[in-house]
Amino acid sequence: MPKIKVTVWNEFKHELINPKIKKIYPKGMHAVIAAALNKDKGITAKTATLAEPEHGLTEEVLKNTDVLIWWGHMAHGEVKDDIVDRVHKHVLLGMGLVVLHSGHFSKIFKKLMGTSCILTWREAGEKERLWVTHPGHPISEGLPEYFELPHEEMYGEFFDIPYPQALVFVSWFKGGEVFRSGCCYIRGKGKIFYFRPGHETHPTYHDKNIQKVLVNAVKWAKPVVNSAKIPNGQAVKPIEKI
Ligand code: ZN
Repeated sequence: MPKIKVTVWNEFKHELINPKIKKIYPKGMHAVIAAALNKDKGITAKTATLAEPEHGLTEEVLKNTDVLIWWGHMAHGEVKDDIVDRVHKHVLLGMGLVVLHSGHFSKIFKKLMGTSCILTWREAGEKERLWVTHPGHPISEGLPEYFELPHEEMYGEFFDIPYPQALVFVSWFKGGEVFRSGCCYIRGKGKIFYFRPGHETHPTYHDKNIQKVLVNAVKWAKPVVNSAKIPNGQAVKPIEKI
């Protein structure tokens, strides 16, 4: 079976300007995520960053990407609209998209959701407990009933997203809030998974359970190959005689 081709995209800014974050992710979050994915025999992962020409997301790169992973935070506004439109087009055609943490406010996620995607937050380094709320879903395969991250940023409800087509994780935070942490959507032929954890000042992407979720999400979001076309609104002749 051919390997699933993944592109891990990161704005790659925090790691360059904050020594504490650089210590956790010396080569960037994207490098840690790609290395974790590449340990799986069924996946081959490359990386792309904001500073590269066309943000590293040329037509050629996207044509050769089965699943795109997206981490952004401080530079959402620097992502060019024509690149967002290009990613959007590829998602509708079947490319999977995994949006991480503060990517909830990226141009591409907001465009695909059609809602404000606002939420509440608190940076207190508190404990997060992620509950599996869909134990039969492929993204929860091999995971315990719940797992914990000792220190994370809190994201709380209300999270202004469309009702997810599957809700795989719900987070509880020590401060008392809850949050829909693992949300699945389908847009066109493309599958989208939003996964909450991953604040840049904590070593979240080094966590084994988090890496397992990312591997599972890539396998779930890979394109389905069939001959069904994306609707383009044309008039059609009947298949049978009317
Ligand atoms: Zn954050």
